Amino acid sequence: MLRQYELVDLVKSCDQDADEDALNRAYVFAMKKHGAQLRASGDPYYSHPVEVAGILTKFKLDCASVIAGLLHDTVEDTDTTVEEVRQLFGDQVASLVDGLTKLAMIEQKSVYTKQAENFRKLLLAMSEDIRVLLIKLADRLHNMRTLHFLAPEKRTRIARETLDIYAPLAERIGMQEVKSELEELAFCELYKEAHDSIIARLNFLREQGSNLVPKIIETLKKDMEENGVKCQVTGREKTPYSIWRKMQQKNASFEQLSDIMAFRICVDDIATCYQALGIIHSKYHMVPRRFKDYISTPKPNGYQSIHTGVIGPENTRIEVQIRTHEMHEIAEKGIAAHWAYKQGQKAEGKNFRWIRELLEILERASNPEEFLENTKLEMYNDQVFCFTPKGDLIGLPVNSTPVDFAYAVHSSVGDTCVGAKINGEIRPLRTVLQNGDQVEILTSKAQHPSTEWERFVVTGKAKAAIRRYVRSSKRDQFIVLGQEILEKMFKNEGLEFSEKGLLSVMPNFEAESINDIYAKVGEGLVSGWDVMKAVYPAYKQSKLEKVVKAIKVPTFQKKKKNTEPLKIEGLIPGMAMHFAGCCHPLPGDRIVGIVTTGKGVAVHRADCKALERFAGEPERWLDIAWGEGAENQNHTGRLKLMLSNEPGSLGEISNIMARNDANISNLNIVYRTVSYFEIMVDVEVKNLDHLNSVIADLKSSKVVSYVARSA
Ligand code: MN
Repeated sequence: MLRQYELVDLVKSCDQDADEDALNRAYVFAMKKHGAQLRASGDPYYSHPVEVAGILTKFKLDCASVIAGLLHDTVEDTDTTVEEVRQLFGDQVASLVDGLTKLAMIEQKSVYTKQAENFRKLLLAMSEDIRVLLIKLADRLHNMRTLHFLAPEKRTRIARETLDIYAPLAERIGMQEVKSELEELAFCELYKEAHDSIIARLNFLREQGSNLVPKIIETLKKDMEENGVKCQVTGREKTPYSIWRKMQQKNASFEQLSDIMAFRICVDDIATCYQALGIIHSKYHMVPRRFKDYISTPKPNGYQSIHTGVIGPENTRIEVQIRTHEMHEIAEKGIAAHWAYKQGQKAEGKNFRWIRELLEILERASNPEEFLENTKLEMYNDQVFCFTPKGDLIGLPVNSTPVDFAYAVHSSVGDTCVGAKINGEIRPLRTVLQNGDQVEILTSKAQHPSTEWERFVVTGKAKAAIRRYVRSSKRDQFIVLGQEILEKMFKNEGLEFSEKGLLSVMPNFEAESINDIYAKVGEGLVSGWDVMKAVYPAYKQSKLEKVVKAIKVPTFQKKKKNTEPLKIEGLIPGMAMHFAGCCHPLPGDRIVGIVTTGKGVAVHRADCKALERFAGEPERWLDIAWGEGAENQNHTGRLKLMLSNEPGSLGEISNIMARNDANISNLNIVYRTVSYFEIMVDVEVKNLDHLNSVIADLKSSKVVSYVARSA
C-alpha cells in the first residue's frame, strides 16, 4: 500500500499548489472512518481509497481529485456526511465526493442493465464534473485488480459491467491504457477458458521459435535507417482480449488468425509519419482494406495514428502503426499525457489544461473557451435518464415529466396513466424528472390523455399522442352534434332523414363517410341547409333560417371605465401595463407579466398558450401578482357558449348575467346552425370565483348546451 508521504510526493510532482496539509488530513480521515472495515482480500478497507488516490496521481490529476479519491467511499460506507467533508476539505472536494456517492447509488439501483449505452450516458450526465468520472474509473480499476477476492457471482457481474460500461468510457476519453487493463481483467474473469487458451497458444508459438517479434523489429528498424528516418520501433503481441474480439468478429479460429503481432513506429513529426509509411508500402505488400489514416482524420476521442496491414518481414502478416511520439503518449495515457508532454513536468498552476482539452474532445465543441472555464462536464446535460421498476433505463429530454416517461415506455401506458411513483413516492404527473429517478407509472383503463398534460410534456411523442387523442375526441363530439342538428332540421321541415340520402351526397362535401358529413356540420364547416338542399334539391328553404338571422344581438350598456390604477404587484414602477387580449386574467388566476416593446407590460394568465412564444426570453418575464383590492375592480373574463337556437335564449343569458351581478361588455356570434349557435361573451366580473359562479348558473340553464372559459 502506498505510504502517506509517498502519496504526497506524487501529488506534489504534478500539482505544485497541492495542499499538503489537506492531503495528510484526508489520508488520516479515510483511515479513521473506515476503521476496522476489511476488504474481501483481508486488507484494511482504507487501503482501497489510498490505492485509488495513487492511480489518480498516475492520471496526473489535481490535489482536490486525489483528496476526493481518498474520501470517495466515506459518505457511501461510513457515517460521514457530505457536510462534514465540506467543512473539513472545502466545497470542491465535497462536490466531487457527493458526485461519487450519487454514482454509487445509481450503480446499486441498476440490476445489470442491457442498455449499456444508456447507462454510460447516465454516468456522463451524472458526473457533472469530469473529475468525478476519472475518480470513478480509478475506483473501478482498483476493484478490478482485486476482483479475485470476491465471491464468483459478484465477480461476474462486476466484470460484465466493466466490459460493457467502464472500458468503453475509458476509451471514450482517450485513456487507452486504462481501457486495455480493464478489458484484460474482465476478459480473464468472464471467459477464463478462452483467455487461458489464447495465452497457452501464444506461449506455444513462442516456444516453437516462431517468436518473430524481435526479428521483425530489427528488420523494420533497418528499413527506416537505410532511408534516413530516425525512429523508435516497438512490437508486441496483441492483447488476449483484442485477439479474442477479432476471433469473434471474424468467426475465426486461433490458427486462422494471422496478424496477432502489431508493430509501432514512432517518429518526430507528422511529415516523417508519411515518409515512414511510404517506405513500408514500397517494401512490403499491402493487405487490402487495412489502411487507415487517423492522423488526417482523428477518432472522436482524439486518437491519432496511421494503421496499415502488410505482409511484412519473415513473410508474416503484421499490423504497423505509425505515429509521432506525442500522439503515442496521448493514445496511451489520455490527454493528461498531452499536457505533460507539452509542458514538461511543470504544472500550469491550478489550471489543469489537459482536463479542459479532454472536455473539448468530449464535447467536440467549436468554441471551447466559451464554456470550458471549469471542469464542468456538460455532456448529455440536455437529457435525463430514468429507471423503470425493472431497472431498464429510459433516456428523455431534460424537463421531462412522468407523462413523457410513460409515453416513452409505450403509448398505451401514456394514454392510460393516472399517476406516478417517483423513487417510491406518489408525485404529481407534472413533476420534472431527475437523473437516476426510478419511475413507476400508475395506469387506469378509464383514463384518457388530457389537454392539461400538453402544458407540461416536452417529448414530441407525448405531445403528438395527446393532440391526436384530443383531435379524435373532439371529432367524436362534432359527429354527435352534427347528426343531432341534421336530424332535427329534417324533422322540423317534415323531410325524411336517412343515411342513404346522405351517402349519395358525400362527394358534394368532400366527405369520405357519413361521419365526415356529421363532423363538418357539427364543427360548423358545412351548414345543415346545404346538406338538406343537396339531399332534396327541390326543397325550398323555409322561413326558419330567417328567424336565425333575425335574432338581434342586444346591446349592452358598458359600466363606466375604471380610472384608478390597477392593483398589481411586481410591476416596474412607472411602466405601463395592459391585460393581454388572449387570456383575460382575473384575480384568482396566477399571472405573469411580459415586457413588450412600446406597450409596457402585458399581463397574461400563467397558463396562457401565448407565453410559449417568450420561452426563450426569460429577461422579458416579470413575476407579478394581484395586489390587495384588485377584486374591487372590474375585470373582463371571456366565455364561450353554445346555445340552442330558440327565441329568447339570448335574453335568458342576459338575465343570468344580471342576477349574478355580472355585466356583458361584448358579445359575438361565432357561428350558427339551425339548432345551435356559438357565442363568445366578455363578462365584467370581480374575480375568478365570480366568473365561476356565473359559469355554474349558465350550466344549469336549459338553453345552454356548453359553456367554458375561453383560453
Ligand atoms: Mn471504491
